[in-house]
Amino acid sequence: MATREKATGSCFYDAIVVGAGIQGTFAAYHLAKRGQKTLLLEQFPLPHTRGSSHGHSRIIRSAYPEDHYTVMMADAFRLWEELEAESGTKLCRPTPMLVLGHKESPEFQSYWRAMERNRIPSEVLPASTLAQRFPGIHLGGREMAVCDFTAGVLFADKALKAAQDQFRHHGGTIRDGEKVLGILPGAMATVTTSQEEYQAKHLVVTAGAWASHLLAPLGLQLPLQPLRITVCYWRAKGHSPHSHLEKLPCFIAISLNGDKHDVYGLPAGEYPGLVKICYHYGTPVDPDQPDQLGSSPTPDVQILRDYVSKYLPGLDPEPAVQERCLYTNTLDGDFVLDRHPRFRNIVIGAGFSGHGFKFAPVIGKILCELSLEEEPSHNVAPFRISRFPPLLKAPL
Ligand SMILES: Cc1cc2nc3c(=O)[nH]c(=O)nc-3n(C[C@H](O)[C@H](O)[C@H](O)COP(=O)(O)OP(=O)(O)OC[C@H]3O[C@@H](n4cnc5c(N)ncnc54)[C@H](O)[C@@H]3O)c2cc1C
Repeated sequence: MATREKATGSCFYDAIVVGAGIQGTFAAYHLAKRGQKTLLLEQFPLPHTRGSSHGHSRIIRSAYPEDHYTVMMADAFRLWEELEAESGTKLCRPTPMLVLGHKESPEFQSYWRAMERNRIPSEVLPASTLAQRFPGIHLGGREMAVCDFTAGVLFADKALKAAQDQFRHHGGTIRDGEKVLGILPGAMATVTTSQEEYQAKHLVVTAGAWASHLLAPLGLQLPLQPLRITVCYWRAKGHSPHSHLEKLPCFIAISLNGDKHDVYGLPAGEYPGLVKICYHYGTPVDPDQPDQLGSSPTPDVQILRDYVSKYLPGLDPEPAVQERCLYTNTLDGDFVLDRHPRFRNIVIGAGFSGHGFKFAPVIGKILCELSLEEEPSHNVAPFRISRFPPLLKAPL
């Protein structure tokens, strides 16, 4: 239980985490597990579908061109299993994942080489072998696949709930429907919400697409771009064998159709018989007004129609269902995991750029370690705020 000081009316915690998406939830979970009296604040009533962490499924994989991500994934797989055991809930279904690309493409090659270098259980599949193994996918002669056998489908909604339940089990408090309106830095940071005032030694800001709203008043302008993503679900054409559809693995297509960004897909899950295929980019939006798309929305659905017609001809090239979700992109696609440059007891987890879910247990652990002023258990150099141009504004 939080303690309350009569004179000020503030409630005191060891740690406060702002934002109960998957990253904030895991940060709070690790803090509570480490014996910290922790409060997790969320602006919307839980569960909600207005951020980045909702929905049935996410891809989990080891395949990354950069070694630091693959190394983090080894820890993440272990921590996901730990949460499965603690919660008694199955959170992942092993499913191979294909990286599809042009043989000569440097980006495709970097995935392939990294899998070899890191000894990820994998197999190289030329287009002809792929056609036999996964008859739903049609590649051209100069295109090929590398299969990551460590991959799977994470059950995102179940994972978020399991982590929040375990956070409570370890003594944590969640207050949802309570928006943080202001943060006053100090040895004890003061957090004012729509309902209360709280104080804590450690503050973690994991506010997803809203991070800039909270960080700008703290003098920090991070280059974070909220994007609206169209999540599309596709059904098989009337005549095509459904067994082909059932055999579809997860995939990432690396700029295969000349597109600037990748296309990725997951087997049917949330809607029976409908395959989920999305474009890994979207339209810049204000997260509070995600339906106002501005004058030049990204033609993501048209890009996907073209992609599906060419590479997955057994699917109807018109999406059966469209939903929306938010990415928060950094300039380089790498995360922000760091302390505030001036207020060292404020830790920031942001900019997960559409690929952060699979890492959440390890990101939560790193944010917890940064909060407790411990040496992080992973290399956080790629995630430092100092990689961006000077971003501090005048002191508050
Ligand atoms: C369509 C789609 C597909 C994806 N696929 C994958 C995938 O296959 N694999 C993968 O690894 N990742 C994937 N991702 C990315 C992953 O889901 C995100 O990186 C992750 O969910 C980000 O979590 P978050 O906690 O940072 O953000 P969020 O989930 O948005 O959480 C932030 C929370 O902070 C709250 N908040 C904000 N401001 C305040 C405030 N002032 N007061 C209180 N609360 C506040 C928000 O309401 C929100 O709940 C995908 C994302 C999308 C959208």
